[in-house]
Amino acid sequence: MERKYTKSVNVGSVVIGGRNRISIQSMTNTDTLDKVATFNQVERLYAAGCDIVRLAIPTVEAANTIAYIKEKRNDIPIVADIHFDYKIALRSVECGVDKIRINPGNIGDHDRVAAVAHACKQKNIPIRIGVNGGSLEKEILAKYGSPTPEALFESAMSHVRLLNKYDFDDIVISVKSSVVPKAIAACKYVSDHCDYPLHIGVTEAGSSRMGIIKNAEAISALVNMGIGDTVRISLTDDPVSEVYAAKDILRSLCLEGHEGMDIISCPTCGRTKIDLMSLVNEFEEAAKAERLTNIPIKVALMGCIVNGPGEAREADVGIAGGKGEALLFKKGEIISKINENEVVATLINYIKTEYGTN
Ligand code: SF4
Repeated sequence: MERKYTKSVNVGSVVIGGRNRISIQSMTNTDTLDKVATFNQVERLYAAGCDIVRLAIPTVEAANTIAYIKEKRNDIPIVADIHFDYKIALRSVECGVDKIRINPGNIGDHDRVAAVAHACKQKNIPIRIGVNGGSLEKEILAKYGSPTPEALFESAMSHVRLLNKYDFDDIVISVKSSVVPKAIAACKYVSDHCDYPLHIGVTEAGSSRMGIIKNAEAISALVNMGIGDTVRISLTDDPVSEVYAAKDILRSLCLEGHEGMDIISCPTCGRTKIDLMSLVNEFEEAAKAERLTNIPIKVALMGCIVNGPGEAREADVGIAGGKGEALLFKKGEIISKINENEVVATLINYIKTEYGTN
């Protein structure tokens, strides 16, 4: 699969577009005025693997939190999410933000658009234009009858033209829907008709379970068409879960720059002699906590010693559960027997010793 070549923009140290690694974004859900809580969440997101963190900036005062974060951690790319008020955008730029998410058509007079475009251009700060089915302009909705891909594209381009009028073209576009086929069709249409980098994902996707399913479907379809430069997995959950979900989706698609630990496990059956479900969950959590998930190895957790090692022959390392114990194996070869209470700790230590930490 060849990635579509798009223009590239710099968001702090991260480049979006131009066939660069697909970056992972998420958004804080703390009260942005609470600087300490917001900073702590930004740090948690970054530590989990979030490349770019977005903050809702509802007031000029809230923009000061950007300066607070930047003072403490200048290395984390920060995006200000702004609705309607150009003064908040200007203050965010002053506070050191790395990208602005605003629709210039919604901020009023053209001199306001000019002011934002000028301020961003001076500091090489890109702007993301984000169009959703629910926020389409009345005239465009009337013209197309519903939020079709053409309607979303037309809306996005009207905002692009406004910025272009003020000689600003450092733009990322998102056209989102909460309906998977519509989200895919809209991104495909935009990708076919312009070269701006695309921020992809399903909006208002729901709880972790359905949200991850919907986003995986849309991102998989788009990425397999070579489309998508940055992703956000929108979930009604702790934002850190969005980051883990994004990492897992991109990793499972075997994308360059997203290599990492591939944990495989059997579905269990009547031969299973160990509590494999708990073991898998425990191992996943321990691997995250020990920061081992970026090590590009395949780890197999299998339910029985009869078929386990054979079925997981391709794994670099793994365990196969027996009665009260498990076998530790490497590339199908048995290394040792482990007591069932020490399976996760032994496997984690073995991986650390053999493959190092990331
Ligand atoms: Fe059943 Fe063993 Fe296969 Fe797991 S590895 S599904 S326990 S036969």
